[in-house]
Amino acid sequence: MEIFKCEGCDRIFNSAEGLDQHNRDKHGIGLQSKHELRQLKRQEIEKQENLDRSRAARSKLAKQGAYIGVPVIIIAIISAFFLSQPQPTSKTTGYTSFADIPEGPIHWHPELEISINDQNQVVPANLGLVGAHQSIHTHDSTGTLHYENNNPTPENMPLRYFFDSVWRKQFNSTCIMNYCNGDSGTVKMFVNGKENFGFDNYIPRDKDKIRIEFA
Ligand SMILES: [Zn+2]
Ligand SMILES: [Zn+2]
Repeated sequence: MEIFKCEGCDRIFNSAEGLDQHNRDKHGIGLQSKHELRQLKRQEIEKQENLDRSRAARSKLAKQGAYIGVPVIIIAIISAFFLSQPQPTSKTTGYTSFADIPEGPIHWHPELEISINDQNQVVPANLGLVGAHQSIHTHDSTGTLHYENNNPTPENMPLRYFFDSVWRKQFNSTCIMNYCNGDSGTVKMFVNGKENFGFDNYIPRDKDKIRIEFA
């Protein structure tokens, strides 16, 4: 049996009339040549290919969007974290900032007291005097720190410098010596009787009374 295949959509008909009818109904064509029908089919295929391409491009864009979106979210979370942290605002809150770095030579005597579970800790004499005379040192065990500094800098002025580089004991917002925040207690710091959140970043002033406690 002879079959009649539509060049436009590959449908098969068992009569020429059926195919003609189909061409008129589905493709809006009457008596085009086979060549024209093939062209029609090619156009159909190209249209489909263009559609596929633009779909692929769209999904690629969506993927790129996801890659860009993830870091943006991470940055947002990190920024939110830092913005929620206490900001150094110097004298008003007792935090520290570079504005607290004095210009020129100083000889200051802040006092340091450390209490762990209600036991006062001895700050030993002669810290920072062995070998090179360090810019923060002690002459006795009263807790008086001698800030004798000809060139105050953001590195050598914070309390951190005394703990890390002179005494070599741990001190930061969560630990004092070997005691760290947890079930057994919390590190707190007071400067001249007021709680201070600068901890190791705090830059002492002359005659400051600094108390660090763990309880
Ligand atoms: Zn001295
Ligand atoms: Zn002194």
